[in-house]
Amino acid sequence: MSIKQHIPKPMMTVLLKGYTLYAKCKKSLKIKKCLIDAKLNPSKAVCYCPCCDNRLRSFESGYFTRMPNVYNPKRYKGIKQEVVCPICGAIPRHRILATYFNKHKGELKNKRILYFACESGLWTWMKRNRISITTADFFATANLKLDLCNIVQPDNSWDWIICNHVLEHVDEYKQALNELYRILKPGGKLIISFPILASLQTIIEETEHTEKNKKKRLELYGQADHLRIFGADSKDVLIQAGFNVDIIDGSRMDKRIMPVVGPADYDVNYLFLCKKQKGG
Ligand SMILES: [Zn+2]
Repeated sequence: MSIKQHIPKPMMTVLLKGYTLYAKCKKSLKIKKCLIDAKLNPSKAVCYCPCCDNRLRSFESGYFTRMPNVYNPKRYKGIKQEVVCPICGAIPRHRILATYFNKHKGELKNKRILYFACESGLWTWMKRNRISITTADFFATANLKLDLCNIVQPDNSWDWIICNHVLEHVDEYKQALNELYRILKPGGKLIISFPILASLQTIIEETEHTEKNKKKRLELYGQADHLRIFGADSKDVLIQAGFNVDIIDGSRMDKRIMPVVGPADYDVNYLFLCKKQKGG
C-alpha cells in the first residue's frame, strides 16, 4: 500500500504545493549563484547565451538520459550533455539562431512572424528585442491552433515562419512543407530544422501510430514521438518543396555559445534558411 493513501487529500495538496515552491526557490537560487559566479569571475565565464544575453560559467544538463521512455539514452552517449542554458532553457540550435537574428534584427521588425511550437530560449530573445510574433501549435497553448499538414491560413500571408523540430512529428512531411511554402509571402523566409543523421543517405520513416512501432521508433529515431529521421539529402528535400536554401552554420560562430552539437546525435549544428522566390 502506498504511503500516499494514508495522507488526507487536503494535506497532500499542501505538501505538493510546498514541494513545488521549494523546487522553484532552489532553481532560482541556483540561477542567481550561476550569474553571480560569472560576474565575480569574468575570466571563468566561458559560456555565453545570446538568447537571454547572459555570460555563464557553464551550461547545464537537460537530463535527457533520465527519460528512457521518451529519449533513447544510446543516442546521447558520448555527446556532451551540458548544453542547456540554466537561465532561459536555450539549447544549441536556439543559440545559433539567436546569433543569426542578432545580425538580422532589422529584417524582423514590424513583420508578420509565425512561430510553430515556440521554444523558450528564442521566445526570450524575441521578447528582449521587442519582436512581435504569432505562436502556433496543435497541442500546446498558442495564439493559433494550427495543423502543419493543413494550415488554415491564407496563401502568401507571412513574412517569416520559424519551425524547429516539428517536421519529424507530423504524418505527412511533404504536405507540411507544401503548406509552409503556400502561406509564406513571395520573398518571405522559413527557418527550419529537424533531426538529421549525416550517415544516412536519405530519410527513413515509420508513420504508423502503434505501441509496437513506438519501440521501433525509439530505437531508430531516438525519440518515441519521432516518426522519421532525415538524411544527408535534407537540403534537396527543401529545394524540391520549391525553396531556395541557405544554411545557418553554428560551427563558424562564437565558440562561447558552444557546444553546438547535441544533446543527441541527431541534433546538428546548423539550421536551414529557406526563401520563397519573389515570383513564387
Ligand atoms: Zn539563455
